[in-house]
Amino acid sequence: MTTNQSTNIRAQSTWNWVLTASVMAGIFLVDTITSLEIAIAVFYAIVILTAARTLARPTLIALAVCCCCLTLLSFFLSTSGDWRSGLVNLLISISAISMSAWLVLRLDAARSAAHAAQTQLTRLARAHSLSGLSAALAHEVNQPLAAIVTSGDACQRWLTREPPDLGRARDALARIRSDAERASQIIARMRSLARGEAPRPRAFDLSYAVNEVIALLGSALARHRIRTDIQFAPGLPDAYADRIQVQQVAINLLTNAIDAMTSTPTRHLRVVCTDHDDQLVVAVSDTGSGIPPDMLAHLFTPFYTTKAGSEQPESAGMGVGLSISRTLIEANGGQLWAQSAPAGGASFQFSVPIARSKP
Ligand code: ADP
Repeated sequence: MTTNQSTNIRAQSTWNWVLTASVMAGIFLVDTITSLEIAIAVFYAIVILTAARTLARPTLIALAVCCCCLTLLSFFLSTSGDWRSGLVNLLISISAISMSAWLVLRLDAARSAAHAAQTQLTRLARAHSLSGLSAALAHEVNQPLAAIVTSGDACQRWLTREPPDLGRARDALARIRSDAERASQIIARMRSLARGEAPRPRAFDLSYAVNEVIALLGSALARHRIRTDIQFAPGLPDAYADRIQVQQVAINLLTNAIDAMTSTPTRHLRVVCTDHDDQLVVAVSDTGSGIPPDMLAHLFTPFYTTKAGSEQPESAGMGVGLSISRTLIEANGGQLWAQSAPAGGASFQFSVPIARSKP
């Protein structure tokens, strides 16, 4: 925060306090001096409701207590009017003040609970996308590791020969080195996907980022014999969003598409990236089980899943991937929607803003 911003915030807060104190003083004067037999002090409730937007919990409670004390003081200082009506007005006002303070505090608690639930959901989704990834990653890392062992055995054989074949041993060592680098790149990609809290938007090549995710899930696609067709319109501009979060969404959509095609005879995944006005749109379409019309309305509801995993508990779904993906995409200024593909299967599309070129 800049010095200017913090000075502005301090000035705004002082001004709020001056305004609140003036209104309270006004209510107190009118309540004490005038002989009107109406519960003027209920207006303190408006002060509480207005101040609730900016005050912390303890300060709000202190303000409510202060309003009640002023109401009591007015009752004792007031010399005009019937004391019985005054007593009734006092009770009405104190009830109104207490009720508004209580309601505001309840609302605040509900807001904090909703925020905590949202944070928890985000954590769950991250864990979910990582757990979805872990099998593919274990497979990917396993491949270079197995290659390293094979090359190591070969290297040992070339060296123990009489005479040793140093040329072939050197080749085997070079393969070991490149496989080790490949494994470390896979792990580095996983670590970068595991990071990421609030969106950190910057310009990036969306096609490259999506391709990276497809490569990451390459072994799962090959295992399920899924034909992949990738079409990125040529010369697409950069996207402006949080790259890691967009990749997290792409992983969720691709993993769902793979899951939907595990038991269908035709397995065709299509990933298309185009630009429309000031947005880039990525469409992930599959020839899987598809989305029945009555299901479309629930897809993005948290904890909605059809992946019960009764036969394979490890494939059970949590039903948070799509709801979190939508939250992430919307936080980045885009949209995520689903539709049934005309030729069967499902099509999920998301948009992200195009990076504006600097003037
Ligand atoms: P999960 O994958 O854990 O079930 P999601 O929120 O990612 O949670 O998906 C919710 C549900 O949406 C899935 O259980 C599935 O029924 C449906 N779904 C998602 N993607 C597809 C798809 N490509 N084809 C068919 N159904 C899908």
